[in-house]
Amino acid sequence: MSATCIKCEDNVAMILVGTNGRFCRECFERYFAHKFRASLGKNPVVRHGDKVAVAYSGGPASSALLHVMLESLSPAAFKKLKFQPGVIFVDETAVLPDCDKSRKLSRVKDVLEACSLPYHLVKLEEVLQINEEMDQEVARLSEISKTLESIFHSVKTLTSKEELLYRLRCKLICHTARKLGYKHVFLGETSTRLAINILANLAQGRGGQLAADTRFTDGGRYFGVNLLRPMRDIGAKEIAVYNNLKKVETVFFPTLSTKSKANASIQRLTEDFVVTLSADFPSTETTVFRTSNKIAISKSGDSEEDKVSVCRLCHGKLDNPLSSSSALRAIEFTEKLSLGAYGTPTQPNLGYIARDTQRSDMEAASALCHCCKILKKDIPSDIDCENTALSRIMFDDRAKLNEKEMLEKIGDILLVDD
Ligand SMILES: [Zn+2]
Ligand SMILES: [Zn+2]
Repeated sequence: MSATCIKCEDNVAMILVGTNGRFCRECFERYFAHKFRASLGKNPVVRHGDKVAVAYSGGPASSALLHVMLESLSPAAFKKLKFQPGVIFVDETAVLPDCDKSRKLSRVKDVLEACSLPYHLVKLEEVLQINEEMDQEVARLSEISKTLESIFHSVKTLTSKEELLYRLRCKLICHTARKLGYKHVFLGETSTRLAINILANLAQGRGGQLAADTRFTDGGRYFGVNLLRPMRDIGAKEIAVYNNLKKVETVFFPTLSTKSKANASIQRLTEDFVVTLSADFPSTETTVFRTSNKIAISKSGDSEEDKVSVCRLCHGKLDNPLSSSSALRAIEFTEKLSLGAYGTPTQPNLGYIARDTQRSDMEAASALCHCCKILKKDIPSDIDCENTALSRIMFDDRAKLNEKEMLEKIGDILLVDD
């Protein structure tokens, strides 16, 4: 039962593309390249001559991204794209489960050599040096590697581990990109991955940052470098077909949740949910993912005050700290109550409440967003004391500025100044 391609109505159809129908090989390849270019056309962030780095991980999506980008940049391409490409690879093997490390890393190098683009390999542990004075720290990479390993080892839940890895990776990629003069970074996040991220983000209390985390651009929240998602209209299945047709080489690294059960973390469970549902209902992905297109980055984010009110770890916008009846305020209040901060039921100490909630407003505004606070709680306090490397990267300069401004703003309403 060979059908004809719904595009050219000529060749034999081979590939079922989501809910679009069956395509022949040529039409599929054209469709795939078009999706990539159309996303750049619809969102004109990258200008002629800009330096753009691909965040390559060896996985199927970023490998396909690298391949389709190289084809669109080649002189033979129809309407050749004009920007200066490069590649950034983050070596995360320090925190990943054991794998044939050196062989895999050398395969990554071979792939990148073959692209003949400038490429940069960075180790995840370098993220702990972001706020350090460069000169004294370079020599200590092996020591820092151990620190990072012990931080990850100590994180209590897989959900927090995955979240921490994702945030540190984004931070390091953008920091490296800025150092090397790249204005933008392409991520290989597909519509499948974004549908999973949208639901997982909501489940973790990151609803406020959904737009920056899943739309085409994140608005340059990490060090002013734009994280862009040019593969966001392409599904994971289409990536697999493309890699197969084009013989794109991928390098498999195990992830934190490889071999773990479906309910091991919120992210893993959501992935399982979306993938299983999509098997019977192919439009699941697009339904979830298109809903997120309707969420815009809030307008109030343009004011000077909002620009500095960012979380120290994920650089996301902080949950509105001064709204007195927010759900977040209620959670914090209940938490303190159960810890006995306001005395016991028989000996209540309610006089402290007013002062304490004002102080917690200030702390919330100057430190971490709701989700990152939960993450921090999953790291034992002996690991995460004030002077550890992790704390240092959480307390970066931008956030310090924020803290100072907040103090100036609400200092006069604090009852006790200590
Ligand atoms: Zn065709
Ligand atoms: Zn955060």
